[in-house]
Amino acid sequence: MSCVFCKIANGEIPSISVYEDESFKVIMDINPANLGHCLVICKEHYANIFEMPSELTAKAFAVAKKVAGAVKEATDCDGINILQNNGEIAGQTVFHFHIHILPRVEGDLVNIHFGGFNAEEDMIKQIAEDIKNKL
Ligand code: 5GP
Ligand code: ZN
Repeated sequence: MSCVFCKIANGEIPSISVYEDESFKVIMDINPANLGHCLVICKEHYANIFEMPSELTAKAFAVAKKVAGAVKEATDCDGINILQNNGEIAGQTVFHFHIHILPRVEGDLVNIHFGGFNAEEDMIKQIAEDIKNKL
């Protein structure tokens, strides 16, 4: 298995860890966007959120919430982004499920920009119907 997060999860590659349980390891990002940037990594290999069982996804977000609270206190940040990228176009570079915990401070250099899609209300209503029909 050549997956870097599998190797981190099983200890083959060292990492700075802040939390571990039977299903997850939370590590410091090697190239942090801000001081305190952590990653919740699943110990089992799932490439993305769609491959994962829902119960495990729910547990992953519960771990992210717990650690985010600790990050908030430890860094005294002004806010926190919880990010989870699926697919290259969405910014995923490591294809093993993980959740970013990214503390934010006034004046930091993080740039998360929603460009804005020029949609008519009819289009929004139509896509909402399409989504509902897929649930
Ligand atoms: P993605 O872009 O896939 O959502 O996020 C991958 C993250 O993993 C990046 O923020 C990157 O800095 C981090 N990363 C990549 N390789 C390693 C590594 O070997 N160790 C650690 N701790 N983080 C890594
Ligand atoms: Zn993996």
